[in-house]
Amino acid sequence: MIVVIDGPAGSGKSSTAKAVAAQLQIQFLDSGALYRVATLVYLNSDKNYDTFFDLLEESKISFHFKDGKFHAFLNNEEVSDEIRSMEVSEHVSEVASNPDVRKYVNDLMREVVKSDIYIADGRDLGTAVFPDAALKFFMVADLETRAKRRYEEVKTQGKNVTLQEVKANIAQRDATDSNRSSDPLKQADDAILVDTSDMNFDEQVAFISQKIEQLISQQKT
Ligand code: C5P
Repeated sequence: MIVVIDGPAGSGKSSTAKAVAAQLQIQFLDSGALYRVATLVYLNSDKNYDTFFDLLEESKISFHFKDGKFHAFLNNEEVSDEIRSMEVSEHVSEVASNPDVRKYVNDLMREVVKSDIYIADGRDLGTAVFPDAALKFFMVADLETRAKRRYEEVKTQGKNVTLQEVKANIAQRDATDSNRSSDPLKQADDAILVDTSDMNFDEQVAFISQKIEQLISQQKT
């Protein structure tokens, strides 16, 4: 079974999905992290798309959810911190707009979720990757709120960035993600809209957990 949360950067998808997964003891899949690992491969290549694809095909991208954290690996080396750098954030939307990169990441995700119950977060999971997901949420919040959240997150990681830089990066990624021709960021018709601008974290987690628990109990009866 797969539950998906899509939405723009900083809307709270990832942290909420992680907390829901820990609470319900299910698996968590951060699709953005996989695009970030692919971006790392791009940055390690000579930034020519042909060479990059060859390198991506030769690379092993793996991940697991452990102790409440999503761990991402490139060729068996953990890159969970590296993929959060501003350099990766500045290139990820461009790399993710490439249809071949999307196919690569989507194939990886579809294979993995066959084996367990997952909650996954992304941009196009409800519309393009898992159109038959058991439950779909679309999480939004105003730009100011999202930028502040992301800024707090990068600051705790000791990164030297300003709120303005984070805000500009988020606005830029929103625009690229929403306007690309290949599976843009979009609310699925059957997704539940969750506006987290005025919700606290516990309320977001409780809202989504309750909906999943309701579904699981309906399936049992
Ligand atoms: O979720 P996060 O902000 O880490 O995602 C990084 C980037 O990966 C997004 O800005 C977007 O360009 C891309 N992405 C995507 N489709 C997804 C998840 C992420 O295009 N399903």
